[in-house]
Amino acid sequence: MRIVLLGAPGSGKGTQSKLLIEKYKIPQISTGDLLRAAVAAGSDLGRKAKAAMDAGQLVSDDVVLGMIQERLSKPDARAGFILDGFPRNIPQAQALDAMLARLSQPLQLALLVDVDTEVLTTRLTGRRTCANAACGAIYNIYFTAPKSPGKCDKCGSNLAHRSDDNENTVRSRLQVYEQQTAPLVSYYKAQGKLRTVRGTGSVNEIFKNVTDIIEVQMRPLAAAMSAAQAAAAKNAPAKTAKPAKKPAPAKAAAKPAAKAAAKPVAKKPAAKKPAAKKKPAPKPKKKAVKKAAPKKAKKP
Ligand code: AMP
Repeated sequence: MRIVLLGAPGSGKGTQSKLLIEKYKIPQISTGDLLRAAVAAGSDLGRKAKAAMDAGQLVSDDVVLGMIQERLSKPDARAGFILDGFPRNIPQAQALDAMLARLSQPLQLALLVDVDTEVLTTRLTGRRTCANAACGAIYNIYFTAPKSPGKCDKCGSNLAHRSDDNENTVRSRLQVYEQQTAPLVSYYKAQGKLRTVRGTGSVNEIFKNVTDIIEVQMRPLAAAMSAAQAAAAKNAPAKTAKPAKKPAPAKAAAKPAAKAAAKPVAKKPAAKKPAAKKKPAPKPKKKAVKKAAPKKAKKP
């Protein structure tokens, strides 16, 4: 599952990402979080980024792309990822496409969390985030205030007010979004990958809509996986009923279709067949096939 979450600052991408990582067990990669960590650590990269961040401007593409490349190459990103706050302009989106093409892992979905601009300023200036990175709970002093002011309901840590969530910086960030990031909506629409969800209402309602979209989008992949499994199951009983010669061509025809349709996820089930096939090879054909078939039928 490889997803970009698009949306203006304050649209709720971060909140939805946190729920998505719990549900789908894939990492959220937020360039904003990575940059804030670099600033807090006082690294060279952090120093370069800080001035732009404080002014509500974008950090240079070189810095951000280097960071993303490194993060996507980590093992936990192989099963998929949710990109939050990246890409932020067309050159970043093009660089991401090129990066993912090299990994043969193209993006599957760009999900726009759509919120009217008037709502965004209040959401941003009222936002408070749990300072404990392992918790990261997000509040809003106007809409979803914590029970004790300044303290996280979940873990009791202090709540932080991001330095760029003040009115002046928010104004710049929203302008930058309109000028540089909003064109990504057309970019992903042209690729047929854009879906939109309304970002107003309760967090749970929005999340339900988000997951509905994700599941519809992933359905062709799931269908291809089922097809691959069904083909495997069909081949197994056919072999027990008839001599070994007949199932062989049927398998050859079914395999490429299933593989092509479900390349990333269907690899494992498909790989089981040759492994099972190798065993019987030295033995007399009929016996070997009868032994191998029940094993295969049980696994999926
Ligand atoms: P965010 O937490 O996503 O709102 O990002 C906070 C700030 O980090 C932004 O206002 C930018 O200054 C910087 N930033 C985050 N992501 C990017 C990006 N993809 N490209 C450039 N700057 C970014």
